[in-house]
Amino acid sequence: MSKKKSPQTDENSGSWAAPEGSWASSAANRKSMLGNRNRDTSPELALRRLVHAAGLRYRVAAKPLAKMRRTADMVFRPTRIAVFIDGCYWHGCPDHFVQPKTNPEYWENKIGGNIRRDRETDQRLTDEGWLVLRFWEHQPAEECAAIVEDAVRTRRQALGTGRRRRA
Ligand SMILES: [Zn+2]
Repeated sequence: MSKKKSPQTDENSGSWAAPEGSWASSAANRKSMLGNRNRDTSPELALRRLVHAAGLRYRVAAKPLAKMRRTADMVFRPTRIAVFIDGCYWHGCPDHFVQPKTNPEYWENKIGGNIRRDRETDQRLTDEGWLVLRFWEHQPAEECAAIVEDAVRTRRQALGTGRRRRA
């Protein structure tokens, strides 16, 4: 998740529409998402629980590359997999991002900057031999967990690290 702070004004926070029936549509979740908490959000926790229950171990909110000041939500070091759960608002989800009515240029730069930064992170990690998995916070945790588990197993086989369980 981005470290950026959330908008403080009602106009801005009121412009983000949660997907119908999603975790974000309850007022409490939405409030926490739009507040300053960026870690341990519900979609992220749900995914972590499922992957952990599947017996996989990983680091939480860790830097995949020591030299790069970017934090991934989950890091599988032996298999070099970095997982990011991108917030629909801050990372410009095509399904849910709605341009705020106030100060459109500011938000375009801000969200656009986040998206460019995400792509740059992807490129740098890929260049270093990492696999980057990005999910939107609106994606079902089960679906994301299946992709993560599959990727870890596939990379383990490819890298011959099948017996290692340490993240
Ligand atoms: Zn979305």
